[in-house]
Amino acid sequence: MGLLKVAEENFRWNGGSGCDTVGVRVLVVEDEVRQADAVRRGLEAEGFAVDVAGNGTDGLWLATEQPYDAIILDVMLPGINGYRVCAELRRRSITTPILMLTAKDGELDEAEALETGADDFLSKPFSYVVLVARLRALMRRGGSTQPVTLVAGNVEVETTRRRCQVDGREVNLTAREFAILEYLIRRRGEVVPKREIVEHVWDFAYDGEDNVVEVHVSALRRKLASPIIETIRGGGYRVQ
Ligand code: CA
Repeated sequence: MGLLKVAEENFRWNGGSGCDTVGVRVLVVEDEVRQADAVRRGLEAEGFAVDVAGNGTDGLWLATEQPYDAIILDVMLPGINGYRVCAELRRRSITTPILMLTAKDGELDEAEALETGADDFLSKPFSYVVLVARLRALMRRGGSTQPVTLVAGNVEVETTRRRCQVDGREVNLTAREFAILEYLIRRRGEVVPKREIVEHVWDFAYDGEDNVVEVHVSALRRKLASPIIETIRGGGYRVQ
């Protein structure tokens, strides 16, 4: 618990300059080299100390042998999958906060992740900014499964369970739509360019067209039936 306390102390937001995360150790268990590398570089840029394990066996070993402040654990891994790694760590009384990365867009996956003892989960593709925000939140609260609710106008999103409500009415969003909405709400009041949404909400190295964002945003608007997402001419989008 001492380490968690230290982590908490280190997490005074200071605009992401990185100084607040010095000495905070994160284990990334991910077999897809490109994604593992992108996450590692991103987290290191924020000041985290990062170790990467390329499979479940190594991940389990490192998480058991080393004191980490948080673990980012992919579900789909060769050998021992993420669920089993997570369940085994909990069986060994290792309480390090775990953020699980799920590949599928299904509720079963998510329920399963929480049942195995994961503290939060994030569906792929995810935004890097959201990953860091979730990680910080997870460490601040020391790994309990408190839902995080973000509100903008009449729209409310619960990030842990990926639920969205408009005026109390449940709205079903795809993983991508949810990621866009969560990203815009986290950047509330700012004009977010389409390119930035592509970079953050799509896969790390996606190099497709910016207008895919328009397609998803118009679907999102249709589903929300709320005017919270504003189009800024020549700019991008803004949530007030
Ligand atoms: Ca994987």
